Amino acid sequence: MSTEAVDPKTLDRYECAACGYDYEPVKGDDRRRIASGTAFEDLPTDWKCPVCGAPKSRFSSIGPAGAPSGFKENLGYGLGVNTLTPGQKNILIFGGLIAAFLLFLGMYGIQ
Ligand SMILES: [Zn+2]
Repeated sequence: MSTEAVDPKTLDRYECAACGYDYEPVKGDDRRRIASGTAFEDLPTDWKCPVCGAPKSRFSSIGPAGAPSGFKENLGYGLGVNTLTPGQKNILIFGGLIAAFLLFLGMYGIQ
């Protein structure tokens, strides 16, 4: 049995509900000598948040890094994930409004 295969579960990140710290399996936890590639489920039961000391039960899965549903990433302003400039954001928001408006007009036209 090979342990080389990457278990998709090991890529799931977990976020501390108390302080917002993200446990990233690909990084592990240097401060508690958790090797990189350690899934959250495989952490010791007495593992605690390295930032605030919250127990594992306070953590919840936020999915693997780079997941399409990047809700949490969108909240991570200034962390380098959100690389859109304000101008690009405005274009996206404005474009979205126009698209919604056109969709509305289209639906109205059908009826
Ligand atoms: Zn914490």
